Amino acid sequence: PTRAEITYFGAGPAALPTDVLETAAQVLLDYNGTGLGIAEHSHRSELATNIINEAKADLTSYLDIPAADYEVVFMQAGGTGEFAASVYNLVGAWVARQHAAVVKELGAGADEAAVVAALRTRVERDLKLDYIITGGWSLKAYQEAVRLLGPEYVNVAADARTINDGKFGKIPDQSTWKLSKDAALVYYCDNETVDGVEFPEFPSVLAPKGGEDGTGDGPVVVADMSSNILSRRVPVSNYSLLFFGAQKNLGCTGVTVAVIKKSLLPPTTTQPSPALMRKLGLPIPPIMLQYETIAKNNSLYNTLSIFDVYIAGQVLKKLLRTFPDKVDGQQAVAEKKASIIYAALDAHPEVYRIVPDKSVRSRMNICFRVTKNGNVDDEAEKAFVKEAASQGLTGLKGHRSVGGIRASNYNSIPLEGAEKLARFIKAFAKA
Ligand code: PLP
Repeated sequence: PTRAEITYFGAGPAALPTDVLETAAQVLLDYNGTGLGIAEHSHRSELATNIINEAKADLTSYLDIPAADYEVVFMQAGGTGEFAASVYNLVGAWVARQHAAVVKELGAGADEAAVVAALRTRVERDLKLDYIITGGWSLKAYQEAVRLLGPEYVNVAADARTINDGKFGKIPDQSTWKLSKDAALVYYCDNETVDGVEFPEFPSVLAPKGGEDGTGDGPVVVADMSSNILSRRVPVSNYSLLFFGAQKNLGCTGVTVAVIKKSLLPPTTTQPSPALMRKLGLPIPPIMLQYETIAKNNSLYNTLSIFDVYIAGQVLKKLLRTFPDKVDGQQAVAEKKASIIYAALDAHPEVYRIVPDKSVRSRMNICFRVTKNGNVDDEAEKAFVKEAASQGLTGLKGHRSVGGIRASNYNSIPLEGAEKLARFIKAFAKA
């Protein structure tokens, strides 16, 4: 089929707007009459810096990121690399805070061995990273923390499988979360791409405490927003770090964005020296995962794919052009599309079983099973995918680890695409 004939519901990489790709195809051959394509120009050229700065500014504007307090960086780690980067950098920041407290306690003249000994005690006694596990991706992030640090430092604050017969599909009540005191980070995945579970809103138990002047410190919250960023308003100031790969709602595979609270970067917080971390038995990041290095170099510590940043920038410009009220406008459309698709599924409970609990249904990844006589039916699911594809509705097969059907309703799916899928869902049920 041609591009115009299909609506692609794949979970990522996702479809990109055709007009963005048409412009991108031109600039690959010749960027702005320079005779050289965008992927050929130096990442150190002025035009590359302009592309980075514009994309940062447009992201900041679209999401209303408080620019005075947050740094936006482009990295190449992928979401998976950020699982590690968040651990390394926030353990470093935690040690830096403890170091300052120990020096204060022992006095500026204390000898180094005493400082290290006091720090080691604090590390062994107090260092904890909290994970809220609600699906396959937060599970992977948790496993990476255990792999890098050792299980003694990593706390499962909540695991959705314990309240749902060993399966994902719910979010444990926040009152049951076992949060550590002064955790180096509290981690969660805002939208679980594989399991179709999305936090309906920011978990209030993690909100900043808000001292009298409203600036009180809260937990160090980290969120993976790889598969729902740009689709709804984010209360950015509640986070210490949020990150997302580009390949769903932002652009094409190859660039990852981290939004980092500036107080975790120099001059407020400086990563401890490698020598000190070694004495404490804690890891240091590879240099290309160290946020302060990437931030200091405006994302250009090493060679960055400017083409990928360009695509992300064009997607952001299109969003800003389309929605005068920015992310709120896109949010309304995303909700409308999701509700049309869920309504079609809900209309036929004799055929479809939606995987997650109603209270945590993802607007981005709509996961369901096709049943016959109340049981999941492999043949019926295969037929669903095949017949849908024959009508131009492609990419609907569920993740290999869970099976079933998954309709990824990212920003590039037009309203008509969601409506077409809903019509198909109803027609298939009747047939
Ligand atoms: N986090 C989420 C929510 C994802 O959906 C994915 C990938 O699909 C990842 C992390 C991993 O991203 P990457 O493949 O870029 O490492």
